[in-house]
Amino acid sequence: MRAIINKFICRRCMRCVISCPQGAIKIVNGYPEVDKNLCRGCGICLNNCPFRAISLILDREEVLDEIKRQLKQVAVEMDNLEKRLDSIRTRR
Ligand code: SF4
Ligand code: SF4
Repeated sequence: MRAIINKFICRRCMRCVISCPQGAIKIVNGYPEVDKNLCRGCGICLNNCPFRAISLILDREEVLDEIKRQLKQVAVEMDNLEKRLDSIRTRR
């Protein structure tokens, strides 16, 4: 598990940055960002966020997201290939 921060909800109070015992939350472009390599998924930051902007996610979700992203990419590639084949067929 690891923490993720919803920037649309975050009010930049920086309590999460101070509360993380791993020093896993850094400020990037004015917003807190979790370093996934340092986060241990303890949930302390989540409990210290007054705006409920932090969630814990499972690594499994990341894997599923990556699979979905790649499937979409394959669908786009297949679509492009089909269009190219159609244009070749119409030239004959
Ligand atoms: S879950 Fe724990 S280790 Fe991860 S960012 Fe929050 S406080 Fe830090
Ligand atoms: S504690 Fe919550 S609102 Fe405050 S900076 Fe962190 S994520 Fe944003």
